[in-house]
Amino acid sequence: MLQKCIDCGKEFPVNEVRYECGCSGLLEIVQDLKAAKKAVSKKLFEGRMGSREYPYGSGVWRYKELIHPLIPDEKIVSIWEGNTGIHFGEPLRGYVGLGNFFVKAQGENPTGSFKDNGMTVAISQANFLGLRKVACASTGNTSASMAAYCAIEKMNGIVFVPKGNIAMGKLSQALAYGVKTLQVEGNFDEALKFVRANSLKLGMYLVNSINPFRIEGQKSIAFEMAQQMGWKAPDWVIMPGGNLGNASAIGKGFRELNEIGFVEKIPRIAVVQSKGANPFCRLWKEGLDSLIPVNEPHTIASAVKIGNPVSWKKALREVQASKGVVEEVSDQEIMDAKAIVDSTGIGCEPASACSVAGAKKLVENGIIKSHEVVVGLLTGNILKDPDATINYHLNKLEGITPKFQNRPVEVGLDFGQIKKAIEG
Ligand SMILES: *Cc1c(COP(=O)(O)O)cnc(C)c1O
Ligand SMILES: [Zn+2]
Repeated sequence: MLQKCIDCGKEFPVNEVRYECGCSGLLEIVQDLKAAKKAVSKKLFEGRMGSREYPYGSGVWRYKELIHPLIPDEKIVSIWEGNTGIHFGEPLRGYVGLGNFFVKAQGENPTGSFKDNGMTVAISQANFLGLRKVACASTGNTSASMAAYCAIEKMNGIVFVPKGNIAMGKLSQALAYGVKTLQVEGNFDEALKFVRANSLKLGMYLVNSINPFRIEGQKSIAFEMAQQMGWKAPDWVIMPGGNLGNASAIGKGFRELNEIGFVEKIPRIAVVQSKGANPFCRLWKEGLDSLIPVNEPHTIASAVKIGNPVSWKKALREVQASKGVVEEVSDQEIMDAKAIVDSTGIGCEPASACSVAGAKKLVENGIIKSHEVVVGLLTGNILKDPDATINYHLNKLEGITPKFQNRPVEVGLDFGQIKKAIEG
């Protein structure tokens, strides 16, 4: 296991603290898959699933041999992350037009988003290296997740969030778990640029998704999905694209699983961006050589309100390797799709609904065929952004007309009024 530059191929040992190469390329973890293949079996993973044995009952550490084989168990910081359900429901299948559409609900994680899958590994790595001060820039969920793991391990955490641009559920988590919360002027991209440039100088270990250990942890989403589907890869996996760490991780996870012979193919990766924050989609559709950032990203899906995604090269590689696609959807499509997800009783935050709105669009465009098996990732919990949900149902979102509105009804405590309201 080592760290390797994705641009020039230079290698670094696993215990070296750095986030980029001298050539400024991102680093990725290279696993010793030959050794891993000998160490694991489907039976091993089946035995750990549902077990209460720490840390192997975790939906991430169940796959330790494929994620971070070098870390001693006692250095692992885990709160049983992962172990999220795969659901299906008729309203969803009808809505996207697929008989075999599933959603994997990463919002069932301990802090309510898939960031926990990666964060447990990044914080464990910090712990392994003896680092006690960690930091991230965040649109919200990374900070909520980091804050929880800091609380468990009594680490000193500092989060940088864009002032006024973070959903209430997420901000409240960061404050409540007890990290130092810096509400900075500027947007997420600017905050990330600052922490990338200054974290080493400030003695902070950075746990954004440029940290390759985050990506290793998030591979577990692919592993768990394959395991839950009887070690079969779906035809497609669809996910929202913000900073593009997750698309990188899911692709890498399936490639590695295929390489060790656990799945017979890799699914096609579909990345779905919001139209107001779509630099990766433009790159894809216009066939550009490199990413042109969107300077003022805007979308109701705050978790993907990112104009300059750091992991675009990694994600592009995964989309290409899997013969995948990149698509974009409007805020209107996002919020209507979210309303359908919510109405199934599963629910999600706005960004997550890119998966469902994107699936619908790709089916309509004939790119996904109606017989194919498709899994959409629901990245974050419905409770993360109550403002977006309530304002949709109150029809108070600018530029959005709710198609699936469930308006609250105001009534007096009067039998006649209430009978009318119930029956009306
Ligand atoms: C972080 C996040 C995303 C975006 O994931 P990337 O890895 O940055 O592309 C999407 N949805 C939710 C809910 C998130 O928290
Ligand atoms: Zn390099």
